[in-house]
Amino acid sequence: MEGKARKTPVRSCISCRNAGDKRALVRFVRDARGQVSLDPSGKAPGRGAYVCPDGDCFKDVRRKHRLNAALKVALTDDDYARLEDEFQSFVGKTDER
Ligand SMILES: [Zn+2]
Repeated sequence: MEGKARKTPVRSCISCRNAGDKRALVRFVRDARGQVSLDPSGKAPGRGAYVCPDGDCFKDVRRKHRLNAALKVALTDDDYARLEDEFQSFVGKTDER
């Protein structure tokens, strides 16, 4: 066994607050220009917010515009529609074989 002390960042979903492994959650990131997008790598620079990949949490996030508070941005419903597309195609890839 290796004795490496490895930090495992614990993130929690901005909707249900369930903490999950970093990779189990979908990351959204706000870049330097204030643009919010899904971050498939999970490593993009900028403020990040995490949502469960199952879809229910994202629906709640969209309905309540939760990314606005989490990322300190003013997203419109059009932005959420775009993010939902990104979300669906991202989780769809891993979901349906
Ligand atoms: Zn959740």
